[in-house]
Amino acid sequence: MPMTRDEARALFATAKLDYSILTMPRVQRLRTLINAKMKTSGLFKGEYRCRQRPILRPDYAEIRCKASYFDGREAITFNKDGFIGFAGWADEQNVQPVLSGFAEWVREVTKSVCSYEIGDWQCREGGYLWYAGDGEGYDPEDTSDICPCCRTKDFLEAAKEEAESCSSYSNCGDSGTGVDIWASAEKVALRANPVAAAKALQDLGVVAALEGDDSPEGYSVVLCNTQAKAIAVGQHTV
Ligand SMILES: [Zn+2]
Repeated sequence: MPMTRDEARALFATAKLDYSILTMPRVQRLRTLINAKMKTSGLFKGEYRCRQRPILRPDYAEIRCKASYFDGREAITFNKDGFIGFAGWADEQNVQPVLSGFAEWVREVTKSVCSYEIGDWQCREGGYLWYAGDGEGYDPEDTSDICPCCRTKDFLEAAKEEAESCSSYSNCGDSGTGVDIWASAEKVALRANPVAAAKALQDLGVVAALEGDDSPEGYSVVLCNTQAKAIAVGQHTV
């Protein structure tokens, strides 16, 4: 599916990236990814390529491109004013390799850029938290704790599922109900990544959390995140 330039810019912004990530190895990696997309696109008789050397200065980077009948045109420019330009000369079709290479690059950079930590827990590649307090490194197979900062929606989805299936828990001196699970996850997510959390809460809608009690069923259902539904309904009726 074709992507627009604005969608590509939005990817960069919502990943909370800024120009501080622009190092020569990263810009070269971006060049490699865009170049590969140009190659496989077959555009310009299969001669669409990035030029060899990207330019990187403080607060500025550019990659240029060429084909048989032109040279030195913009592939991508990170301008000083924060505006990212994508092949300004190109039409919707010819800009696609630039945009898809850029999108792939944003995904790659995002994987390694999250610096979230809480106590001795830190985010690792893939967006999972691991316990860094014992100096033993992490088990790549252990995917039990999703990072609330870079994978906010996944984190909240998992918490919703847990809150809706667990009426009470206790481990390591800590105990509570499904309602507590949801409330604490919501708080953690909003603190870790307020923008993504607000959006994810909207998307997830009402959470029917379980709360252990003395009733015959052993629990009751408490509706949480209800203001999200109210807002969503409001939007539909406007
Ligand atoms: Zn993370």
